Parts: sequence; structure tokens; C-alpha cells
Amino acid sequence: MKPLIELFEKNNNIKINIIAAKANQLINRIEQEGNFSKADILLTTDVGRLHIAKEKNILQPVKSTKLNNLIPKNLRDTDDYWFGLSLRARILVYNKDKISTNELGGYISLGNSIWSESILIRSSNNVYNQSLVSAMLINYGEIKVEKFLTDFTKNFARKPSGGDRDQIRALAAGQGRLAIVNSYYFLKMKSNDKDNKLRSLQEYFPKDNKMSTHVNISGAGIIKNSRNKKNAIKFLEFLVSNEAQKIYAEVNYEYPIRKNIELNEFMTKYNNFIRDKADLTSIAKLNNKSIVLMDIAGWR
Ligand code: FE
Repeated sequence: MKPLIELFEKNNNIKINIIAAKANQLINRIEQEGNFSKADILLTTDVGRLHIAKEKNILQPVKSTKLNNLIPKNLRDTDDYWFGLSLRARILVYNKDKISTNELGGYISLGNSIWSESILIRSSNNVYNQSLVSAMLINYGEIKVEKFLTDFTKNFARKPSGGDRDQIRALAAGQGRLAIVNSYYFLKMKSNDKDNKLRSLQEYFPKDNKMSTHVNISGAGIIKNSRNKKNAIKFLEFLVSNEAQKIYAEVNYEYPIRKNIELNEFMTKYNNFIRDKADLTSIAKLNNKSIVLMDIAGWR
């Protein structure tokens, strides 16, 4: 966020103070501080977390024509409590020496027994996986997803451990055959891969006739007791401007929330995929259900 914050400060003569911590810590802190909180904006990733902030009643609805016009409807809260600012895809990364592209399909095909001992993925307590399962529930229905989860869990190459980057490293080191990770981790590692350690790895954007590639957001909401509401809205509006969207995407290896933002060559190469249309508010509301289903299936 640093280049964006500096640009905003310079253009508007408004100083931004940042407190960085894990999303849950920030949400709990703002909740505990109540009326005394000095926070104006909560900026975090994944709709699951923004939805929790809304449910905990620490955000307030924002009426902004700019935000409503520029951010697609399915990528912001139906009640205007939070807004998507940039996009990430949950993609497959596979080992080209062990898999050919035509063997790959939609997410649900990963329950197929041909993937026995093949799949690397982090634990079910991570919100990225929970939101993916919620999006699958919307697209495939509960019965199919329940069966999928049981089969899928049997296909793990190892007990889930580490974050998304660790799955990519394990894959590059020869473990398993494919990993499920957020796009920006792979793209950043790929662009910094000077010794070509990732040469055998290839990205794949899952898609079948029911579901396209799951996208989630990094986004923000205005804190209920914000003392600088006008400036806070100004900052969010700045973040969806042409100029900021390009920087946001390129610095973080994410995708603009808006169409028609021209990106650099590297990002353009990886921005050619079909985004699943599942509504993010609906995904967030299914979070608890997904956690229960993953637990029943034995995904730890
Ligand atoms: Fe992340």
C-alpha cells in the first residue's frame, strides 16, 4: 500500500497513519476500543474477514456514487458496509513434468481419484479455502460439494501445513503434483525467480461448465466511529481511480477491481481468465457452513 498512500498524501495533503496487524487482531481491537477507537478505515483481504467486521458492528454504511459506479455490484457489500478494491484468483499451480494441461478441469474434478496423493493445500482454518468452498456451494450445490470434500481430502499429497507459498515451494521441490494457491503468491514468486527454480511449474485457472475461477477481494470499510469520515471516503475513492488501480494491481500482483485498467506486460499475461460470478456477500454468509463441511470431511 505504501506507494498508494504516499501518492494520496501528496495529492490531498492528508496524512495517513497505519497500524498493521493480523485481520482478526485489528477487528478485535477496534471492537474493544468502541467509541474510543481512532481508526477510520479497516483494510483487509478476503470477503470473509470484511463480513465478520460488518457482523461485529464496527463498520458503517457509506453512500458514495463513485464507489458504487466503479466497483462491480458482486464485489461490494449489498448494504454498502465494505467495498472490493482489488482482486485475486484462487488458482492451480501444477508440475508440468507430472501433469498435462488437458488433464485439468474445474475445482470439483479435484475430487477425482486420479489425483490421489497429488494435491498440496493449506489447512481448512484459512479463510481463502473457506471462501473457495463457499463459492463451490453456490455453484455446485451442497450435495455435490459434500461428496467432493470427502474425496478431495483423500487426494492430499501430505497433511496440510504452511501457507500458500509453502505449497508452491513443496511442489517445486518435487512433492505432489499440483497446489491450490492465491494467484499473487505464484505471480510474485514467478517474477522474482532469478534462478528459474519454478521452471517446472505452470498456472492453471480452474473452469468447468458450472464454475469459473474463484476470485476474492482485498477491500475496505469505514469504521463506525470514524472521526474523519469524509477523508476516509476520499481515500477509498482514490483507491478505485485509474491511476491507483494500476499501481495497486502491479505492486501486489493482483487484478484491478475495474475493467479496462491497462496493466504491465507481466500482469497482462496472467489476466486472461474467466472470473466466477458468485456474489461475494453470499460467499461470506456461507462461511460457517463451509467450515463445518470441511471439518466433517476431515480436512484439518
Ligand atoms: Fe494472502
